[in-house]
Amino acid sequence: MTPLEYDRARIWHPYASLKNPPPVLHAKAASGLEIETADGQKLVDAVSSWWCVAHGHNHPAIVEAIRRQSEKMCHVMFGGFTHDPAVELAEKLAAIAPRGLDRVFFADSGSISVEVAAKMAVQYQNALGHPERNRLLALKGGYHGDTSLAMALSDPDGMHTLFKGIMTKHFYGGEIAAIICEPVFQAANAMNFYHPEYLREMRRLCDERGMLLIFDEIAAGFYRTGPLWAHSRAGITPDIMAVGKALTGGHMTLAATLASGKVADTISGGRPSAFMHGPTYMANPLACAAACAEPVPQRVKSPARTAKCA
Ligand SMILES: *Cc1c(COP(=O)(O)O)cnc(C)c1O
Repeated sequence: MTPLEYDRARIWHPYASLKNPPPVLHAKAASGLEIETADGQKLVDAVSSWWCVAHGHNHPAIVEAIRRQSEKMCHVMFGGFTHDPAVELAEKLAAIAPRGLDRVFFADSGSISVEVAAKMAVQYQNALGHPERNRLLALKGGYHGDTSLAMALSDPDGMHTLFKGIMTKHFYGGEIAAIICEPVFQAANAMNFYHPEYLREMRRLCDERGMLLIFDEIAAGFYRTGPLWAHSRAGITPDIMAVGKALTGGHMTLAATLASGKVADTISGGRPSAFMHGPTYMANPLACAAACAEPVPQRVKSPARTAKCA
């Protein structure tokens, strides 16, 4: 079998069937705007590989940062260890995050950073003596990822209808720990834009009712809608914010959940005082180094021919 035949017979692709799967292109290399296929086509990656390749493919500064880090240390458990790339990235994120969101939890994908945000909200409420506050309020049309908690927070009639049965239903009166939303721009499930005033009202409601406000900036963050953070148009700050996708310029998988001192201190004052999450690849040094690299804009070469994808 050729690699393409093997792939077609055995390997699942995102949201695709193994029976008569839609055709895939055989990518061999990628640089700047272009993805080069095995049969020599050069395609413009106009969707930035699902919105994460923010500075172009194989950006020299990011590739160099990964290479340098790989010569020192590719990975070490984050339990009981720390390292320079993680500390440097935490500092850099805190410097550009909304004011006060300077406590960082590194996650390995966007979905996980959403899970972490939701768990922080529940642990926060628990520490305040509200164990009954264990649901989140989410918006119709939202998308927060493919893991089960993130699915439960996404539009139930969106991409995850099939799994309604295993998902906890969120949205109930006095049980709400937090509101989660994609600020201003609902991306993957809906492609909706809405008014920043809505976010200000959410902030008011959360403060009034003792709920936390979580913004999922995984798609919209890092200038995707114009300003650095989509929610900055509303002039308010969330209590917890998830970032991912463009965080490493699309070079390594990495996400982060940023929390305020109030959230972190409250969780730490609860029982258990530990925040109960810890992925194997947490704060992977290669990924942190990729995120810390500061790419300067590249000169764009003459655009390549586009071809149909599927
Ligand atoms: C892509 C996305 C996620 C999930 O991120 P993954 O890295 O795919 O797990 C979560 N929230 C939003 C808004 C996204 O666009």
